[in-house]
Amino acid sequence: MKMRQIYIISALVVVLVVILSAAFTFEQTLQEERNLSSDLQYRTRLLADSLTESVEPSYQVNSAKSLEGLLAKFTGRSRLAGLAVYDSKGQNVAASTDFPEAILTTPPLVADAIANDAAKGDYDQVYGRNLYLFAEPLHNTGGAVIGVLLVAQSADYIGSYVAQIWEGSALRFLILLLVFLLILALLIRLIILRPLHNLVESVKTARTRGETGAGLEGIREHAFFKPLVGEISKMTKSLLAARLSAAEEARMRLEKLETPWTAERLKEFIKAYLKDRKIFLVSNREPYIHSKTKNEITAEVPASGMVTALEPVVEACGGTWIAHGSGNADRETADVNGKIQVPPDDPKYTLKRVWLSEKEVNGHYVGFSNEALWPLCHLAHTRPIFRKEDWKEYRRVNNKFAQALLAEIKDVDQPLILVQDFHFALLPAIVKSSRPDAQICLFWHIPWPSAETFSICPWRKEIIAGMIGADILGFHTQAYCNNFMDTVGKEMESMIDLERFAITHGNHTTYIKPFPISIAFASDKPALPADRSVLEKLGIGTIHIALGVDRMDYSKGILERLKGVELFLDEHPDYKSKFTFLQIAPPSREAVAKYREYNEAVTREAERINKKFAEGDWRPVVLEKKHYTHEELAPLYRLSNVCLVTSLHDGMNLVAKEFVAARDDEMGVLILSQFTGASRGLAGALIINPYNGEQIAESIYGALTMPAAEQKRRMHSMRESVKNYNIYRWSAELIKAATSF
Ligand code: UDP
Repeated sequence: MKMRQIYIISALVVVLVVILSAAFTFEQTLQEERNLSSDLQYRTRLLADSLTESVEPSYQVNSAKSLEGLLAKFTGRSRLAGLAVYDSKGQNVAASTDFPEAILTTPPLVADAIANDAAKGDYDQVYGRNLYLFAEPLHNTGGAVIGVLLVAQSADYIGSYVAQIWEGSALRFLILLLVFLLILALLIRLIILRPLHNLVESVKTARTRGETGAGLEGIREHAFFKPLVGEISKMTKSLLAARLSAAEEARMRLEKLETPWTAERLKEFIKAYLKDRKIFLVSNREPYIHSKTKNEITAEVPASGMVTALEPVVEACGGTWIAHGSGNADRETADVNGKIQVPPDDPKYTLKRVWLSEKEVNGHYVGFSNEALWPLCHLAHTRPIFRKEDWKEYRRVNNKFAQALLAEIKDVDQPLILVQDFHFALLPAIVKSSRPDAQICLFWHIPWPSAETFSICPWRKEIIAGMIGADILGFHTQAYCNNFMDTVGKEMESMIDLERFAITHGNHTTYIKPFPISIAFASDKPALPADRSVLEKLGIGTIHIALGVDRMDYSKGILERLKGVELFLDEHPDYKSKFTFLQIAPPSREAVAKYREYNEAVTREAERINKKFAEGDWRPVVLEKKHYTHEELAPLYRLSNVCLVTSLHDGMNLVAKEFVAARDDEMGVLILSQFTGASRGLAGALIINPYNGEQIAESIYGALTMPAAEQKRRMHSMRESVKNYNIYRWSAELIKAATSF
């Protein structure tokens, strides 16, 4: 209904009330008028009767003069307008002074009274006055009519009284109307507008925040609104149900889509899949490191696949990332609780920094993680060092992170926790024992060795017990999962279910699953044309180029690779001056003696080979011991004919996938160690055993002489595989598994 219609109806109601009230007032005035009139007539008749008795004798004997004197005695009474006497012919013979002159001449009433010998009364308007005239015949003693006494009474007061009634009634009506309108407005406000406002707010809350029934408490019992509230409640519930099913449908659609996963798609997936659930991520390395140089603070994102993979996940649900605050300006940029909102330019989630002492870092990170667990899990023939002090710090730091995490999830029901890597093997069990409702997923980014190999660790049982505190335990490959199952079977009393790949220890079951990590694969970004100037700057002018990109780490097989290059040049000397092997190898974990030694060994080996084959300006090996950004690496990947990944043992190896992703020309050959996780998915690579130098040499030759068509076929198949299982899909699979047991 429009407001205009409401106004019209209200106006009609008011008009109706006015008419009714006027009718009642009219009826009342008529009644009053009748009463007053008959009262006036009665009193006039009484007056006339008594006057007649006085006038009749005087009229017979006295002159007109004395008659007037008599009449004058009676005048002055209130409401008496005058008295007059007429003879039997109707001629005025005497009149009081105040008698209205206009009626002195025979009024019809007088004639009528004479003719009928009967008293007559009637109203007349004289000079704007309302008069009641009453004619009473005068008789002689014989009873004959001798004249008429005319009494004129003022009847104006009747009109005034009636007018007063109208005025009073109108005033009463106006006051009542005003009170009525005020009460109406108040009632509308209290009974209609306020509940209506609450209803609107409730519908709005359901629409915007997805909450049903908010704000309806006060009006639910309101008889007037009960049916409406019921309908609105049903409607908001079905709206939410429709939303949920739309989200579910979107989720199903997202899962079924064959198109590549992107950061955006991952975010949508997380929102639809987890709804309002919060994610808590724990890793040693933080996603933003604040450093201060010359009073200038900068935030650096460490080059790690983990940030690319997991940042969209935490961003999508506004989660919390707990990590070691390692930057020299980290404390300065965080609040008293070590928290900072990140990304710094567009904050979307919380980074909670945990502060570690130098002793803790040395024992936990340098010692137990890098000198014990890393060589223990990587079969690179580097002996692990098990120090009791390191183990103590490892336990202490795991506990410290667990306590920080428990504080964060204190008020969160069923928190979803993603623990990253071998730095936190003990954390899942600590958290699970305090919070059995938490869903914990531990992803182990490095290989898992055979049960025999792992059995040399003095604290193997504690490590395994800590890990199986998780609900989901992820590795890169099925082979690592198998190794882990064997290890648990060997070390612990537990139920091993090889069909579901589950381990039940006590009342808790852990599922072991492979999730091969990957890279972003920006297929939508066309590659920049390869600019050879980057090679010229490095002094490389040959047409054949082989590339290696690794942290300076003994597990990467850089020495074995150099051996392969040497053997290749020995075998194919015609490639001298036409071939260069470029190795990018930023120094890594320099606090560990083994890494420093390895760095020296690689440098020496490169120098030895260069000395052996040097011809003029040409050197076969270019060793770049500095960190290259991904942007700097991209043109190198595109300008190389061959990429050499010869790890002795590698969880996955992302360089292999990055090389493939960079080659949108579908050219170039990947030489890949059979001991990398990546070798399981990249069938188009030339798979080698890094311990076999001759095989590496042959593969380099095979790659350089490979026909373009075969390069394209192999590269195409590898690109498809990386595209279909990129890092965003990895995250999605991990979350799905973590929430579906
Ligand atoms: N990387 C880099 N700059 C370098 C050397 C390596 O950005 O100078 C990156 C490389 O692109 C890859 C990562 O470091 O993304 C190495 O990952 P990978 O799985 O190959 O080995 P990890 O170092 O994790 O053992």
